[in-house]
Amino acid sequence: MDNSPTSHSKHVLPDLPYDHAALEPHIDTRTMILHHDKHHASYVEKLNAALEKYPELRERSAIWLLLNLDKVPEAARTAVQNNAGGHVNHSMLWKAMTPGSGGEPAGALADAIKRDFGGLEKLKTRFDEAGEKVFGSGWVWLVRAQQDGGRLEVVATSGHGNPLMQGHFPLLVNDVWEHAYYLKHENRRPDYLHGWWPVVNWPEVARRFERSDLSAEQRWEGDGGLTLVTTK
Ligand code: MN
Repeated sequence: MDNSPTSHSKHVLPDLPYDHAALEPHIDTRTMILHHDKHHASYVEKLNAALEKYPELRERSAIWLLLNLDKVPEAARTAVQNNAGGHVNHSMLWKAMTPGSGGEPAGALADAIKRDFGGLEKLKTRFDEAGEKVFGSGWVWLVRAQQDGGRLEVVATSGHGNPLMQGHFPLLVNDVWEHAYYLKHENRRPDYLHGWWPVVNWPEVARRFERSDLSAEQRWEGDGGLTLVTTK
């Protein structure tokens, strides 16, 4: 293996910010092990493989790739979109959860939730319904919309789509692929969605909400910036 300083950057699997067992009993340990160590890891591997032939893209972050798919050669575009999406979405998901969170949104975020949804309980209902409706594999999001004066909106994406590709800024995300819940909840996706709220990391949502006012380039700095965000 070439470990010289001139060897090119590779995307890397981020460590979980807590132990695999830390989200019990809401998210079970076995699911966390498979989800992070196997599923997320495979997207990172496949993203690196898809970029192997394109040195000009290897220094770019996964977020940059999603925002600039038109600059990815067509032969690699689908693989880059799917695997960069899988990498970015899961990286956001781990941070969207935290052990012993409990709390509720506060401050400006709470005000915006009240303004745009009528309150936290209504947001939860909208979010869970959107997650339940995803046909097949996908994700459900709370975003700061690009349009509509920056309102908060709940949106769903299929596959590993990310609403940043529509210009939205993601604040909170949950994964509704079966691999996220099947071991514990089998086919009962609504149970998984309803049971997820106690692990939501509201301070992280608030941090992203604050950044959403910044320019397109600055607001991604908390995710590592638009270049080399996920590479070492
Ligand atoms: Mn997943």
